Amino acid sequence: MAVKETMTPRERVLAALAGKPVDRPPIANPTNVMTVELMDLVDAPFPDANRDPEMNARLAATGYTELGFDSITPYFTIIQESSALGCEMQWEQKDNWPTVRMTRPIWNGPDDIHLPKGFLQHQDTRAIVDSIRILKRDYGRDVAIIGKTMGPWTLAYHVFGVEKFLLMSIDDPAKTMKCLEKLKEISVVFGIAQIEAGADALTFPDHATGDLVSGEYYRKFLQDIHVEMVGRLPVPLILHICGNTLDRMGYISHTGMAAFHFDSRNDPQKAMDAVGGRIRLVGNINNPVTLYSKGPETVREEVYRALEAGVQLIAPECAIPLRTKLENLLEIPAAVKDWAAERMGN
Ligand SMILES: [Zn+2]
Repeated sequence: MAVKETMTPRERVLAALAGKPVDRPPIANPTNVMTVELMDLVDAPFPDANRDPEMNARLAATGYTELGFDSITPYFTIIQESSALGCEMQWEQKDNWPTVRMTRPIWNGPDDIHLPKGFLQHQDTRAIVDSIRILKRDYGRDVAIIGKTMGPWTLAYHVFGVEKFLLMSIDDPAKTMKCLEKLKEISVVFGIAQIEAGADALTFPDHATGDLVSGEYYRKFLQDIHVEMVGRLPVPLILHICGNTLDRMGYISHTGMAAFHFDSRNDPQKAMDAVGGRIRLVGNINNPVTLYSKGPETVREEVYRALEAGVQLIAPECAIPLRTKLENLLEIPAAVKDWAAERMGN
């Protein structure tokens, strides 16, 4: 028995993000689901697929055409803006993530922060914006195109270095705040460019992660900025923060963000209780153990656990390991559809 589908994937994702009824829960990954196998399939390997719009769109589309997810997410990494800002990059090979070399920060304090001339013309910002335009043209009627713009906390790690920025946040909270206030303008510029190119929603990663900072830090430095972002980026925003985040989900649920993309270290039922229906949840299938090293049966169990708790959009918890097995990714939509057929009475 299959669930009767009455919505397009795009309608389904946008309805779920808005807290409206759906024919079945969408599978909508806010971060990367590309793998080496998919790169080989469409001849669009890393690192080039991050830098060339045609290749980027070709690879991103496989999230829909091959995996059967309801969304397409063309921004695979977290480094595109930082490269355009002038950070030193390590581009790596097909099976490894490109990274910012944080040992050589480009800026020292708030006075250094500025938007370089030609920021949106840089190869690595343009690759994403142009790819969104291609994907919108080819799939935009049916599939949700989810862009991504990095929040000021993540940008701060890249331009100042993680350690230096975290020390600044302890030593000089006012200076830290000034940095975030200036960096958030970069988040807005890149976000607006993607919305204008056709993005239906934006992921907003801001890595004030559970292992590095507290929930109180989130409230003090980021909550108001996130409220402001909701007003300035006129599409549904999906906040992404990794790690154990139960201590800040209450604050997050009051930002007006459409959804929060959460980590498997948080029990889905406890997470649902913490956000109290004020915000939707996306997640939270475990990457390093379940998707990377277990089989479809374990994937199915986790999908069911999230759905039973009421998680509205199903996805891996974060960007998946590039060697994740295809059969495990394919099990996610299969399990969601079976659950819907059993529980939604179609
Ligand atoms: Zn993450």
